[in-house]
This record gives sequence, structure tokens and C-alpha cells, in this order.
Amino acid sequence: MCTCGAPLLVNYDLEGVKKNLSPEDLKERTNTLWRYHELLPVEDEDNMVSLGEGMTPLVSLPQLGKDMSMKNLLMKDEGLIPTGTFKARGAAVGVSKAKEVGVKELAMPTNGNAGAAWALYASRAGLQSTVVMPDDAPKITRNEVASSGANLYLVNGLISDAGKIVGKAVKDHDLYDASTLKEPYRIEGKKTMGLEIAEQLNWKMPDVILYPTGGGVGLIGIYKALNELKEIGWVVGKLPRLVAVQATGCAPIVKAWEEGKSDSEFWNESETLAFGINVPKALGDFLVLDAIYKTDGCAIAIDDESMVQEQEKVARLEGSFVCPEGAAAFVATRRLREQGWIQEEETVVVLNTGAGIKYPDTVQVNPEMLEKDDVIRRVENVINK
Ligand SMILES: *Cc1c(COP(=O)(O)O)cnc(C)c1O
Repeated sequence: MCTCGAPLLVNYDLEGVKKNLSPEDLKERTNTLWRYHELLPVEDEDNMVSLGEGMTPLVSLPQLGKDMSMKNLLMKDEGLIPTGTFKARGAAVGVSKAKEVGVKELAMPTNGNAGAAWALYASRAGLQSTVVMPDDAPKITRNEVASSGANLYLVNGLISDAGKIVGKAVKDHDLYDASTLKEPYRIEGKKTMGLEIAEQLNWKMPDVILYPTGGGVGLIGIYKALNELKEIGWVVGKLPRLVAVQATGCAPIVKAWEEGKSDSEFWNESETLAFGINVPKALGDFLVLDAIYKTDGCAIAIDDESMVQEQEKVARLEGSFVCPEGAAAFVATRRLREQGWIQEEETVVVLNTGAGIKYPDTVQVNPEMLEKDDVIRRVENVINK
């Protein structure tokens, strides 16, 4: 981070990349995010810490699309990545770069998923880590962090409170601060979602990308990636309209966008079951808003109940059990289509940022479905046939 407190971003010699690399060259390469290493900050291959992350499927969703009157609805499914969320991308690149610059111990606050990914990738790299998370963060992520051998601290508060504790620990114990946007490399990992979407669409850009937005690093990363691809001439034309999707219980970016502001205010008493997007004030809020304004995008808030309903709908119609954050992005797609903001023929990519199975308690199964007699009857039906 800059000493002035603002985030730093990495710049590349894009002229050089343009001269020396072509999309053809990628065909021979590993099917992980490291296939784009010229656009990533890690210099020495020996420092690349990998569990095979990246190149997640871009799946077409014809049934759900039909249900929303859309012809080209696609899901970038980040549920299929080590640690079960796209946080693995930021962790892979962030931990690799930390290793490259000689870090021995890193520290970070988290809402759960990032901590799990960073703790596990730190183990893979042989680094020590300290992770601070709210005590009501999903238990599964707590278990992942503890299993990795990290120092785990629980705080009776929000990620912003965890951040204050990390800030102090970093000063007192001279740790490497891996907080969102305090080091510039996590965003470089997350940016690979944008590179992959472009490559998977054969170097065409979609019309709209919807992204469940907490800290907003994924959205900033996708925007950065597409601009870099434009600069090296691999994609042309207008950038997709970027949509920041938040929860009604924590919607600082939406509020700022609605008011036409360039940064957001702290959201008091934030609450949502979509834990990954419970971020009351993002350090990079002005970058998120800038990306939305520059691409003629928008920001929209979704209530928890609609997320849960949509989660079931996606499972029923398409067989994919998405995370609540991803479900929020699908609800947003539905609403924006209803409002005519999205057109029927447009190519729309929804980010499902993680696997639904990391949230075992969000879906409440209807008790009737569990009634014993009924289950027995159904089994008998099957046997008799
Ligand atoms: C962290 C997280 C998000 C939000 O990502 P940002 O890049 O911080 O905006 C969305 N979904 C899930 C599942 C997450 O873990």
C-alpha cells in the first residue's frame, strides 16, 4: 500500500507483451491461471505456488436463461477451484509474490473464504500465517484455517474490526500485511477471471458481467484485465457493462452509485447470509465505482430471502449448487432483465464466486420433504417399477 493509505496497482510493459506474445502461444500452456504469467507479477517460475487453480468452466445455462427470457446466459463457475472459492486466485498469486520477495509470515483479516485460501496456500508455500476473522464467519472456513496450521484469531465483530487487529499485529510483530488492496498482488490473481472469460469466449467480450461485490477486488481485477487485453490488442470494442451486486443488508457501493458519488460511506450494522459480500467499507470502493461508471454498468442490492430462493432455482433448473453470493448475482440478472436493462439477446456472464457446499446451513430443506413415510413410499415406488 502507498504510505498515503491508498491502494497500489501493478503496471506491466504491455508494449513488450504485445510484441512477444500472441493468443496462439497460450494453446500449449498449462490449464491454470499461470498460463497468463506475462500479465502476472511473479517473475521466477520456482516461486509460483499452485494447487492447479484457474480455468474454471464457463457454463451455458439454457434453462435458467429461458426462465429469465435470456438467450445467452453464462456462468463462470468458481466453485470448481481449490478451497472452493475464487479467493484461491488471489491467494495463489499473492502468496507466490510474498514468497518471491522473501516474506516468512503474513497476516490478514477475512470474512472466511480469503483466510481459508491464504492459510492453505501459505502452507503450500511453507510460509507462516496469521488470520483474524469474525466469530460468526462460516465454521468451515475456520476449520480450513485451523487445519492449515495458521494462527487463527476470532473477533466478536466485523471484518473491519478484524482489520484493526491485523493492523496492530503487523506493526508490533513486523508481519507482511496481506489485507485486501494493502498489497497489490491479490488483485492480479483475481484479474485472471477476466482474462479467462475473454479467452473462453474466443477473445470476444460479453455484453454484461455481474459480480457479487464485497471488497470489490474481483470486479476491479476483471476491469483491469479487460483493459490490459485491449491494450495488447487481444480484444476490441466496448468493455462489458460491469454490475456490482450487493446484499440489501450491506450495500455501500449501491448507495454511492445511486447517489452518483465516487466513493462510499461505512455501512452501519451490516448483515447478510452471503458472508463473502459483508464488507461495510471497501478500501477500493472508488475503483469499483469508477469501473461501473466507465463501463455504463450499475449497482444493485438483493435481499437474503431472494438469494436463497434463487439458489434453489439454479440447482433445480441447471443442477448447479451455487453459493449465496453467486445466487445474489443471479437474482440481480433476473431483476435487470425484467427492468429491460439487460436485453434478451445479450451475452451475460454471471460470476458464481464459490461452491454452495461451503455454506451447509443456508438452505433450509422443507420439513415435509423429510417426512419418513413419504420417503419410504417413494423408495417403494422405485422398487415396484
Ligand atoms: C470474497 C467473496 C466475494 C466478494 O469478492 P470481492 O472481490 O471482495 O468483492 C464474493 N463471493 C464470495 C464467495 C467471496 O468469498
